[in-house]
Amino acid sequence: MNGAKGYTIARRSSCGKIFTTINISPETNSPVNVFVRFGKAGGCGSALADGIATLLSCSLRSGLDPREAINAFAGIGCHLGSRTCLNAVAESIGFVLQHLETGEDLNDLIEEHDFSHANSGEQWEDFE
Ligand SMILES: [Zn+2]
Repeated sequence: MNGAKGYTIARRSSCGKIFTTINISPETNSPVNVFVRFGKAGGCGSALADGIATLLSCSLRSGLDPREAINAFAGIGCHLGSRTCLNAVAESIGFVLQHLETGEDLNDLIEEHDFSHANSGEQWEDFE
């Protein structure tokens, strides 16, 4: 992974903070590795996030279109609603893809997204 670019995006979801790290292949300019940090270390949430990220990384390296991963994760809610754990991962991958395609600043993209959601009356709950 020499020379690979990486992005780590922190999202505050209804389920707590989720950190998604996405590494980009310098050859294809496309995601090849994803790490997800979520939940208490050693807990089931964290173990599941690890497994999902490992499987996703294998799939990406085998040619999976990252948009397919977004579609898959964005459809999964949990008992806390739709703005939840896996949706935060889907959003994070989406931000990085948008950044790679448009060259727009990643933080600007995230801010614009959150701003439009804040103005649509959706509620973000604060969990620290
Ligand atoms: Zn959840």
